[in-house]
Amino acid sequence: MTQFLEMQYLINRFLLSDANDQWVWSLQGGGVGNRLPTRTNLATKGIDIPSTICPLCNDGSETVIHVFGECASVKKIWDLIERWLNLKLPALRFPTDLMEWVENLALSVPKKEMVGAIIYVAWWAIWKLRNDTVFLKRRMKDALLFDEVTYFTFLWYSSRKSKCKANRIEWLKNPLLFM
Ligand SMILES: [Zn+2]
Repeated sequence: MTQFLEMQYLINRFLLSDANDQWVWSLQGGGVGNRLPTRTNLATKGIDIPSTICPLCNDGSETVIHVFGECASVKKIWDLIERWLNLKLPALRFPTDLMEWVENLALSVPKKEMVGAIIYVAWWAIWKLRNDTVFLKRRMKDALLFDEVTYFTFLWYSSRKSKCKANRIEWLKNPLLFM
């Protein structure tokens, strides 16, 4: 439940802001990108850690772009999200690139907000998977990541909209149809 509230906080923070320039700026200025305690970021700050290798795939340095874009363990989630939304995501998936891409999509504002929220939830799910792996030594199946994204975004959307037009099955087809 705490994790759900945490996620809700993250996406509400995104959706409630109408100052688009500000959230783009905050990502570039040390937000999602540089504040995350990835192993590489910790090592750069002089913290003595045993390894900078990604704990999810054990293949590559754990940088932000690796964790959220390049890591073989999480690539699948982006493929599934592309198919789910019927949108082609950019090849480079650094947080700032993705948010710029969302901003420039030829979609209505509510649809863009939903795409942005889905990306935020994907980041949250990936980072939670990473933390569970590192700290709890418990590894959820990678395939369940996408289920988490669809589940939590549906829960969030249906709790915000009193007249939610979608049920869970319809939501799984394409959430943008309900915006
Ligand atoms: Zn990795």
